[in-house]
Amino acid sequence: MRVGKTRLLLKQGDITRETVDVIVNAANSGLRGGGGVDGAIHRVGGPRIMAECDAIRARQGGCPPGQAVITTGGQLPAQHVVHTVGPIWRGGARGEPDLLRNAYLNSLRLAAEHGAKTIAFPSISTGVYGYPIELAAPIALGAARDFALADSSFEEIRFILFSLGDLGIYQRALADRKSVV
Ligand code: ADP
Repeated sequence: MRVGKTRLLLKQGDITRETVDVIVNAANSGLRGGGGVDGAIHRVGGPRIMAECDAIRARQGGCPPGQAVITTGGQLPAQHVVHTVGPIWRGGARGEPDLLRNAYLNSLRLAAEHGAKTIAFPSISTGVYGYPIELAAPIALGAARDFALADSSFEEIRFILFSLGDLGIYQRALADRKSVV
C-alpha cells in the first residue's frame, strides 16, 4: 500500500536480517536489553549497541514509554537502531493506545531526523508486554499512515511480523481501512 510517497509493507521475518536504514527495537525503559526482539537485536548487533544504550542511560536515565532513542546498528545490516518503549498492557484504560501510537510516531520522527529513508518495525508491545495484537495492529498501521501523510521522508516503512499468524492479523487490519483511520 502507498501513502503519498511512502510504501507501507508487511512481511513475515526476523527483523535483525532486514537491510534498511533503521530497525526499531521494542526496548524496556532501562535500555538494558531483554528477551524477544530486544535480545535478538543485541545478540546479532553486538556490544556496541549496548555501550551506546549505557551512555544514553547515564545521560538521561533511560527512555520512558512512548519515547525513542537512537544508537548505531553495530553488526546489523541496518545503519541504526531506534529503541522505543511500548506500554505494558494493563487492560487498556491506562493510556496504552496513546503510548503505543507515540512509540511509533517518535520512532519515525527520530529516524527521519537521522536521514533514514527506509525503516522496519517489529510489533511493539505485543510480546512480553501483553498488548493484544488485534488492538495493536491498527494503531501501528495508523501511526505509520498518519506520519507518511504528513511527512514524505520515508520511501518505505516495513512491519516485520515474527509469525505468519501475526502477519495475517496485520494484513487484515490494513485491508480493513476503517480500523486504520
Ligand atoms: P514487547 O516487550 O514490546 O512486547 P517482545 O520482544 O516481547 O516486545 O515482542 C514484540 C514482538 O516481537 C512479538 O510479536 C515477538 O514475536 C516479536 N519478535 C521477537 N523476535 C523477533 C525478531 N527477531 N524479529 C521480529 N519480531 C520479533
